[in-house]
Amino acid sequence: MHKVRVVQKLHLVPIERRLDAIKEAGFNTFRLSTKDVFLDMLTDSGTNAMSDNQISAMFQADDAYAGSQSFMRLQKAVEDVLGKKYLLPVHQGRAAENVISRAFIKPGNVIPMNYHFTTALAHITENGGKIKELLYDHALDFTSDHPFKGNINIEKLEECIRRHGAENIPFIRMEASTNLIGGQPFSISNLMDVRRIADKYGIMLVLDASLLGENAYLVKQREKEWRENSMADIIKMMTGLADLVYFSARKLSSSRGGGICTNRKDLYMKMEALIPLFEGFLTYGGISVREIEAMAVGLYETLDETMISQSPQFIRFLVNELGRLGIPVVTPPGVLGAHVDAMGFCSHIPQEHYPAGALAAAFYLVSGVRGMERGTISSVRDENGIEILADVELLRLAVPRRVFTLSQIKYVVDRMAWLYENRELIGGLEFTYEPPVLRFFMGGLKPLTDWPEKLMVKFRKDFGDSL
Ligand SMILES: *Cc1c(COP(=O)(O)O)cnc(C)c1O
Repeated sequence: MHKVRVVQKLHLVPIERRLDAIKEAGFNTFRLSTKDVFLDMLTDSGTNAMSDNQISAMFQADDAYAGSQSFMRLQKAVEDVLGKKYLLPVHQGRAAENVISRAFIKPGNVIPMNYHFTTALAHITENGGKIKELLYDHALDFTSDHPFKGNINIEKLEECIRRHGAENIPFIRMEASTNLIGGQPFSISNLMDVRRIADKYGIMLVLDASLLGENAYLVKQREKEWRENSMADIIKMMTGLADLVYFSARKLSSSRGGGICTNRKDLYMKMEALIPLFEGFLTYGGISVREIEAMAVGLYETLDETMISQSPQFIRFLVNELGRLGIPVVTPPGVLGAHVDAMGFCSHIPQEHYPAGALAAAFYLVSGVRGMERGTISSVRDENGIEILADVELLRLAVPRRVFTLSQIKYVVDRMAWLYENRELIGGLEFTYEPPVLRFFMGGLKPLTDWPEKLMVKFRKDFGDSL
């Protein structure tokens, strides 16, 4: 339910250039330059299309260091949409994780959660905490069609609290539309169960709401008790169950920014001093006032189902088409993007050789489409430097809101089908440069053999001189 009014020209460079580009990028799609990228499906972070109303709001921004009217409008939007009175602005989602972790985590603490997100894990670890991921078994079974794979395992949650003691658990973290297991939602009934346990043991409940709009959309689609409710009701219900809500506005509502909100003054006071220290004054938090205006309008727009629905519908199309071709892909279709199971796709590549990273590089090579590795490269090593193999090896093809056309999605299907037929040609990778923290962002790798050249030769043979 929208039309395109501003466009950006794309470039599809020949495969020979793409081979050089991926080599220059150290076989890490994060390090590609967009001049070499055709469809950018790296992430939905900061890449959703803005609405006309968001762009017009940016012109009324109030440039003030302190007391800006733009911030007042954002505060009102947070209260209206998320139902929380106190708002701390931060420059993006991970900054919220930094502030929350510093304010509440002590060394030796345990943080139970449905599943980690890369930056959340990094900040928790940085502050001496340890995470416990408590999912049900079907959550990591790609072929399971369970509608709410993001649900936390309630029995394990209670067992975890008993084992570690409530006094060692500063909060339970629930992530909406669980990013790393394939954009899979939790149900409201699960969140209500978490609330009950949090109350029983006196533990705070923190909601990562970066992908809340999408989670709410899938609740409306899949949880029958909520089918007749509005997005506004569903979102308020979810945020109402949490003591503290934080979000990356790069995903939730616009293209920059983030926030932490609560109705509890005591929690707000524990974090307040950290904002001027790390982010900026309390009425901008490192975000430009223009972007604060876009965040405010974007928050109201998440209440409109037609603003949210295009991306999940395209993802459903993409997942179903790939599935029809026999390509292993996470089901049911979630949000954020389609997630190809790289261990199924490249079953000949051992996990130590990073099948998801190899698949991301190979797919870029044959299509110009940039996806993201979500597997062992995105994981970490243990204290002894031993690789911790990820639970899942996924190639994520993100579908940001309102950015692509259906014909572009069909191009992805077409190139993926060709790569699947030629999957035996894909080989493994190894690190040449491995940063100590969040290595997936800037790490460099190289292929173990000359498989990229072989893949290019086969591509030329099958496609002639087309791109
Ligand atoms: C992206 C994301 C974050 C971090 O947000 P940034 O704005 O990229 O720092 C945190 N949690 C979840 C679930 C995310 O998807």
